[in-house]
Amino acid sequence: MISFYPGPSKVYDKVPMWVKKAHSKGYLSMNHRSERFEDLMQKTQRKLRQNLNIPENYSCFFTSSATECWEIIAESLVKNATSHIYSGAFGKKWFQYTKKLKPEAVGYHFDFQKPLSIDGLQQIASSELIAITQNETSNGTQVSCNLVEDMHMEFPDSLIALDVTSSLGGIELPWEAGDIWFASVQKCLGLPAGMGIMICSPRTLIRARALGFNEHYNSLISMDHHMSKFQTTHTPNVLGLYLLYQVLSHTNSMDSIQQKIERRFAQWMNFIATLKTLKPLVSNPEVQSHTVITLKSSPENIENVLNASRKKGFDIGLGYGELKPSTLRIANFPALKRQEIIDLQNFWRSQEY
Ligand SMILES: *Cc1c(COP(=O)(O)O)cnc(C)c1O
Repeated sequence: MISFYPGPSKVYDKVPMWVKKAHSKGYLSMNHRSERFEDLMQKTQRKLRQNLNIPENYSCFFTSSATECWEIIAESLVKNATSHIYSGAFGKKWFQYTKKLKPEAVGYHFDFQKPLSIDGLQQIASSELIAITQNETSNGTQVSCNLVEDMHMEFPDSLIALDVTSSLGGIELPWEAGDIWFASVQKCLGLPAGMGIMICSPRTLIRARALGFNEHYNSLISMDHHMSKFQTTHTPNVLGLYLLYQVLSHTNSMDSIQQKIERRFAQWMNFIATLKTLKPLVSNPEVQSHTVITLKSSPENIENVLNASRKKGFDIGLGYGELKPSTLRIANFPALKRQEIIDLQNFWRSQEY
């Protein structure tokens, strides 16, 4: 079965080999306060920075998931309120999680078919922290990197937190325009679930120290304190870290990954234009995500396409949230192979979808 699910998604074919290697090299029982662990952490961080072009003065942390990053942000970086600007189910969930911890959090929903407009946001954007889901996995849209840069210019005093769970590792990101960037490894990075990555600007850590919130095991202050020794606050996912190191060592530079993603996205769009029964949910190219493609049709046809594809060995992503019955989602993640995409498209062609 080839998974086209946008998370958890297809893992790199070499993952089983790397797991074996991790075992034979003793990583699976490694003490997380040992020098060998610190060495692995240091090497992984270095590769992550190199491959993703992360600025030298930004900090990298590892968490258990993207969801945990939502909590860390609310607990460590916010005194009273956050502003959540969202168009889909993940952005809404993030807002709802935060609201439980910070009841003054404000949400602003925008139409996912249109680019986010900065005009009018002054009313709602908090000076503390603005939360944006850069790539909305539920509806297959993105807030473009240009818009993220505009937000940063428009709200220079606010920390800008970006959920890039389904774009980090697939497209290049404008690091300097954001303060907290986070993702989990089971999407564009092609790894088994169970680890999150959180990348923070220098002023994020200054804010954390100024607020002094340090009562949670994964408070940013203690995470940073431990990371200064290449350690973590708790026993981390050492296997996940090792697998991340391997993936980063075996994949190309971000520049060529992005080119591959863009090329494949354009090819997908050309192919989809030839289909009779499946149409892009998002018609405006300015807001289409390039890593998650969402198609719409009647609920009967969606069910039929999903079932027939599964029988042929292609696991297609179900729709998400309210869009579940009328859409399906396809990952355009780097770990998928060219031939796998061709095979799926040939099958759909043969079925005259
Ligand atoms: C998948 C996803 C999440 C949740 O990731 P977890 O690793 O399950 O916490 C959050 N936000 C977005 C945009 C996602 O795609």
